[in-house]
Amino acid sequence: MINVTRTYLPDTDEYMRILKRAWDKRWITNNGELLQELEEKLKAYLGLQHLLFCGNGTIVLQMALKALGKTGDVITTPFSYVATTNAIVWEQFRPVFVDIHPDDYNIDASKIENAITKDTVAILVTHVYGNPCDIERIEEIAKRHDLVIIYDGAHGFGVKYHGKGLLSYGDMATCSFHATKLFHTVEGGSITVNKASLQEKIYLFRQFGHIYDDYFSEGINGKNSEFHAAMGLAILPHMQEIISARREISERYDRGLSGLSISRPIPRAGTEPNYSYYPVLFESEEILLKTAEALRSKQISGRRYFYPSLNELPFLKEKYKCPVSEDISRRVFCLPLFPGLESAAIDVICTTIHETHNKS
Ligand SMILES: *Cc1c(COP(=O)(O)O)cnc(C)c1O
Repeated sequence: MINVTRTYLPDTDEYMRILKRAWDKRWITNNGELLQELEEKLKAYLGLQHLLFCGNGTIVLQMALKALGKTGDVITTPFSYVATTNAIVWEQFRPVFVDIHPDDYNIDASKIENAITKDTVAILVTHVYGNPCDIERIEEIAKRHDLVIIYDGAHGFGVKYHGKGLLSYGDMATCSFHATKLFHTVEGGSITVNKASLQEKIYLFRQFGHIYDDYFSEGINGKNSEFHAAMGLAILPHMQEIISARREISERYDRGLSGLSISRPIPRAGTEPNYSYYPVLFESEEILLKTAEALRSKQISGRRYFYPSLNELPFLKEKYKCPVSEDISRRVFCLPLFPGLESAAIDVICTTIHETHNKS
C-alpha cells in the first residue's frame, strides 16, 4: 500500500550514536543536552532567534493561547487540521471562523476586520501546506486592533518568506514535528516567540511553571525527551536531500497532471517552498471520490486533507458559514508525497487521475 506519506527514518546506527550521549549521562529528559543542541540547530536551520522544542504541535498552540493571560474570541481559519480549532476550544476561547481565499486556501485577510469585535483577543491562523498567509495584511490589521498573532506553522518547516524563516513572522509561531510531517522527532513540536515579553512566560509554561524550587506561574508539561531530540538530530542533516526529493516528485506530478481541469493553491510571491504536500483541487467531490476509489483499487491512498471544513465540526456550539472553505474541503485531495516514492508509482497516480477525469 502506498500511503499519502511515509515516515522518514534515519539510519539506526546514526540514531543510536546520538542517543548514546544521553544514555551515558543517564539524562533522558528535562532540558537535556540533545534537546538543547537540537534547539540551537533548528534555530540556525530555520533562521530563527528563538525556538523551544516541545511535546507536540498541539500543546504549543495551547501554551501560545494561554500566554495571552485572558480568554476571548480568536479569529481563525476553517481550513486546517482539527488541532488548530481544538486548541482554541480546549483553552476556553471562542473560535470565530473567517472564510479562506480561493487562491491559496489560507484565511482571507480582507474578511478579518469584519469579524473583529471588542471581545477579539487574537488571530490564530495556519500557513496551509506551508504557503504563507497574507502576513503583511494580517500584521497591519492586528496592529490597528491590538491583537496578538499566532501562526500555526505546522506545515511551515524550512519555508522562507522574503528571505526570512516563515516562523519568524507573527507574535508567536508554532510547528509540529509529528512523524507524518516534513521534519519529525516522532512526536514533537516547537514554539517560536517573537514577542520578547512572552518568551520567559512560555519557557516556564513548558516546565510546569517552576525552576527548581521557585514557582512562578501556572504551567503544564510541554517538554520533550532526549529520545525525541535524538531523532531530530539524526534527521536534520538530511533535510536538504529530503526537500529536493520532494521537489522532484512535485515536479513530476506537475508534468503528469498538466492539461487536466484541476487546480492547485497558488504559492505566495516571495516564498521558498518546502514541498510538504501535493494538494489537488478536483472539479467536484464526485470526481474526487471516484479518483480516490480508483487509486485505492491500485493500493494507493491519498488523503482528504482538510475535510471537513472546521466550522462544520459537529461538536461546535456556534454555526458559521464559510462557503469557500466548505467547497474546497469537499474537493481537495493530497497525493502521496515522500522521499522514496517511485517514479512508476507517480505515473500510475497521474494516469489514474487522467482516466477518472476522462470518464466523468
Ligand atoms: C499536525 C498539525 C497539528 C498538530 O500537531 P501535532 O504535533 O500532531 O500535535 C496542528 N496544526 C496543523 C495545521 C497540523 O497539520
